[in-house]
Amino acid sequence: MQRRQAITSAVKMWQPMGAPVIPYTYEPGFPDNYKQVILDSLRFWELRTCVRFILATSADRKVVSFNHNSAGCSSYVGMVGGKQTINLAPGCMSVTIVAHEVSHVFGTLHVQSRSDRDQYVQIDTANIQKGTEHNFLKDPQGYGTLSTYGIPYELGSMQHYAEKAFAIDRNRPTIYAR
Ligand SMILES: [Zn+2]
Repeated sequence: MQRRQAITSAVKMWQPMGAPVIPYTYEPGFPDNYKQVILDSLRFWELRTCVRFILATSADRKVVSFNHNSAGCSSYVGMVGGKQTINLAPGCMSVTIVAHEVSHVFGTLHVQSRSDRDQYVQIDTANIQKGTEHNFLKDPQGYGTLSTYGIPYELGSMQHYAEKAFAIDRNRPTIYAR
């Protein structure tokens, strides 16, 4: 993986360290016609990282479960323990979006959460929709120590929000490049 800020806490990492294997499953009733998008998204990361995904069995306790009953697209960051859902509304069913959400489970945060982001972007807080401000936190708490792993800031990364993300005025960016 490249181009991200990511967790460093070993307790939130999938095992074995360095070559994690992540069991996945689907919530009951997950539509069959969306499963190819899921498989393509998992393959996207298998081709580019050391992460591997296997269909969960009843013996697996730590499982990522794809959930179609959701109002938006979201995922936990890192390994939570037990079952953790990746929440995908119908509008989230594209490889770009699903692969983005999947990368959160192996520990990536958004590029604009990086501690050094103010060197690269300026956030227009006045244009952020109420209740979505947490998406613009720098070095968000609760993830343990974060690291950029020496990777340069990239505005065009798939882990960076679009410039008008969560904008009140859709004609005005919330994130300006410096
Ligand atoms: Zn995200």
